[in-house]
Amino acid sequence: MIIGIDAGDDPLYEPRYQEIATFMRAPYRPAMDDVDIAMYGIAYDGGVTNRPGARHGPREIRNQSSLMRAINHATGVNPFELVRVADVGDVRFSQVYDNAAVNADIETFVQRIIDHEAMPLAAGGDHSITYPVFKALATAEKPIGMIHIDAHTDTWGPFRGEKFHHGSPFRLACDEGLLDPKRTIQIGIRGAQNWADGWDYSREQGMRVVFIEEFEELGVDAVIAEARKVVGDGPTYISFDVDGLDPIYAPGTGTPEVGGITTREALKLLRGLGGLNFIGGDVVEVSPPFDPSGNTALVGATLMYEILCLLAERKAAL
Ligand code: MN
Ligand code: MN
Repeated sequence: MIIGIDAGDDPLYEPRYQEIATFMRAPYRPAMDDVDIAMYGIAYDGGVTNRPGARHGPREIRNQSSLMRAINHATGVNPFELVRVADVGDVRFSQVYDNAAVNADIETFVQRIIDHEAMPLAAGGDHSITYPVFKALATAEKPIGMIHIDAHTDTWGPFRGEKFHHGSPFRLACDEGLLDPKRTIQIGIRGAQNWADGWDYSREQGMRVVFIEEFEELGVDAVIAEARKVVGDGPTYISFDVDGLDPIYAPGTGTPEVGGITTREALKLLRGLGGLNFIGGDVVEVSPPFDPSGNTALVGATLMYEILCLLAERKAAL
């Protein structure tokens, strides 16, 4: 028996390849009523600086997420039993060629989730989407802390005259006082750059930047301890850019960087974060046009499931 979910909406219903592909086969609740964790899509990639395609991420993650099941074998958590989990649909855009207008639509949508007392869990979209999510989340309590897994710090300045892009969300959020740099940890950073601007900004603001070389040297357990220490017990968001993973595991992404985190390390890392004061999360940068096997979307769906477990535990404890 799944608490809070009608028998007909039971996500354990088999076989799993049937029906419309909602996130993890959770009930579709666009009205956002009776929802504790609202999974939603942000089908936007107008913020990329290189290869596009992440706008197709939510649909393909939904498709691959049909493979997810309920009970986490490593932690024992069953998010569908702990809380009411639903797919609330995608952010509707009033226009799609204007980053500022898109940001406003995302902020409004997330504000609706918060007004329904649900916790937001997004599938991107490129990483520019996290900045407007923060604008909504930080109205209740700010600044917020963040555990950020990515090859890139995403704390860069304007690109070709545009300040809203997928390399800038955390600089914008920090500059506006939405994000607390002292309670921010960035994990898996690597890849050559043409300017050091973003790396310097993160360090100067006091973010804890764990480059991949340090990640390897410390090991996952020590990185977990470091992440827990950095964010403490304050409100914390978790943002997972799939390019934090090595492209051997996640080739379907816009800005791949070799020499990254393995999927096993990523799962262990996420499972070590239980009990923190999470207020939301996202998985971004899955780009299906560069993902012919669908594997990157499967990886994205699995990361989303692990984050769902973390959010569900927290929501159930409130
Ligand atoms: Mn990113
Ligand atoms: Mn990245």
